[in-house]
Amino acid sequence: MTEKIDGWRRLPENKLRGSGIPIPQKMHKSAKSRKIRRGPARRKRAVKSRLFPLFCSFFTRREKLSLASGDFLCYNKAVMKLSDKKAALSELARLYPDARPALHYGSAYELLVAVILSAQCTDERVNLVTEKLFAEHSTPASMCLLSQEELEKYIFSCGLYKSKAEHILSASRDILDRFGGEIPKTVEELKSLAGVGQKTANVVYSVAFGGDAIAVDTHVFRVSNRLGLAKGKTPAEVEKGLHRAVPKKDWSKAHHWLIYHGRRVCHSRKPDCANCTLSPFCDFFAENARKK
Ligand code: SF4
Repeated sequence: MTEKIDGWRRLPENKLRGSGIPIPQKMHKSAKSRKIRRGPARRKRAVKSRLFPLFCSFFTRREKLSLASGDFLCYNKAVMKLSDKKAALSELARLYPDARPALHYGSAYELLVAVILSAQCTDERVNLVTEKLFAEHSTPASMCLLSQEELEKYIFSCGLYKSKAEHILSASRDILDRFGGEIPKTVEELKSLAGVGQKTANVVYSVAFGGDAIAVDTHVFRVSNRLGLAKGKTPAEVEKGLHRAVPKKDWSKAHHWLIYHGRRVCHSRKPDCANCTLSPFCDFFAENARKK
């Protein structure tokens, strides 16, 4: 017997045999039920993923409009629109056209030592310390002539002087032993030096050698997260986010823009949001306004 379903004729299996028509494999009962159960969920997910960006852009637009009109604020936690990121970056470029490193240095090695010393210390203090230190010991070879205690006396006022002295001496020995006294020119090689982490390597690579890198220090981390330019819980996450948000040619400059903004306006405890021209693009500002 043949059945008719929606105009299609279904032949029984014994008639199909020998007719040349491929016989469909019987689906296992559990797989069949899984497919039935999963089908609509998959479709729903696909629709959701297509609608989500539209949803986000709608709310971001609403938030911007309401900021302009001052009526009400609709805060969108999910994304900062690409156009907002671009606008924030061009505003930073406008604000800080001459942004450059505040540390004083005369060579890549001096910059490396200054960056190691700048951990949890102001650049002004580091510049005072390095002025005396570099006058007498400005190369890895002459630095290695110092004992740990002698170097500690030079850098005592920078704080964490014991570990910093140890790192400077180990890095200097590494440079002499493994790189013939020359500072390595890649981030990976720089990171292989004792006491040199991702941030220090990125600063030396981008500032001394003109490479494309964004070093994430405390200011870059804070301002990027507040603006929504790159959100993350660790410097590595923020660095990845900044790589996506900032055009590669501006990586090195963006590092200085964010540091300048963090030092001058977006302070850690009391950001000066009332006088910040980046507030229309800032997640932190929008969130605070919504709470009020
Ligand atoms: S609006 Fe406030 S939180 Fe946002 S970047 Fe400016 S100072 Fe920082």
